[in-house]
Amino acid sequence: MTYMSRWLYMIISNFQTLMQIIHTKKELKSAIKAQRDAGKIIGFVPTMGALHAGHLSLVDIAKSKADIVVVSIFVNKAQFAPHEDFAKYPRPLQSDIAMLQTCGTNIAYLPLMQEMYPEDFSTSIDIGLPGQILEGAFRPHFFAGVMLVVSKLFMQIAPDIAVFGEKDYQQLVLIKKMVAELDIPIEIIGAPVLRENDGLAMSSRNIYLSKEAREIAANLYKILLDVKEKLRIKGAAAPALSWGENALLKAGFEQVDYLVLCNAKTLQQLPVLQKPARLIATARLGGVRLLDNIAV
Ligand code: AMP
Repeated sequence: MTYMSRWLYMIISNFQTLMQIIHTKKELKSAIKAQRDAGKIIGFVPTMGALHAGHLSLVDIAKSKADIVVVSIFVNKAQFAPHEDFAKYPRPLQSDIAMLQTCGTNIAYLPLMQEMYPEDFSTSIDIGLPGQILEGAFRPHFFAGVMLVVSKLFMQIAPDIAVFGEKDYQQLVLIKKMVAELDIPIEIIGAPVLRENDGLAMSSRNIYLSKEAREIAANLYKILLDVKEKLRIKGAAAPALSWGENALLKAGFEQVDYLVLCNAKTLQQLPVLQKPARLIATARLGGVRLLDNIAV
């Protein structure tokens, strides 16, 4: 190692040690207070860990809008049904922490399950009908769990801004709605979907895909683009969507849970293309549910 690179290494490792890793609400409160007292703008990125470049792109956006970035890693039990993958959800904690450190996160918040949901916890948040359609129709208590954990984290951190991925498009719309309806003073920022080279949307669950399924998976994005093209030419939703559903099954997907054209703000389904619109799909492949969406 040259003198210069040793010097750079020292600066980088010092920089990296600046990230605080916090587990308790008490520690978090005092760390946030110190930043608030110093007049810092606080940005927040909630995650369930198993981080990839998509998550880090959210951190980058938060860094561009705030002085201090808090990233939470918490596998939220409340959004999993008993038959879902809560226990086996990937938890590569060490590499997650290393990734957060290298991308310049200031505070990694890893809440304790017993502090988030003590045994007698009973409060729930009902987002109403928009939480029962699309993803909510297949995972009935999913959005109640998401809204609950996000509101708890919002109360604990009280950030100025929070960044969520368009990858989970319905979730982003519902969080914006909840924040507006409950007068929560946090600006919600949507971040574009980050994709692998072949177009597959990055996701923590992609590691569950076998080699063969991984090859088929890239077709989801390609078919969404084809459906978009058909909508652009003809406008009518039904024929384009039914073509898309067949194309997915032909490509090797086992089931299409939904493929819809909807209003990008209200999620109301559209019979004819009318902007701003979003094409949203969820399809199953080798036991994995793949979610994707594109603007139309
Ligand atoms: P998760 O850890 O899966 O709960 O995701 C945490 C946040 O990262 C959510 O706001 C997701 O929408 C976002 N996210 C996940 N995958 C991607 C991706 N491929 N591109 C952009 N954001 C993503």
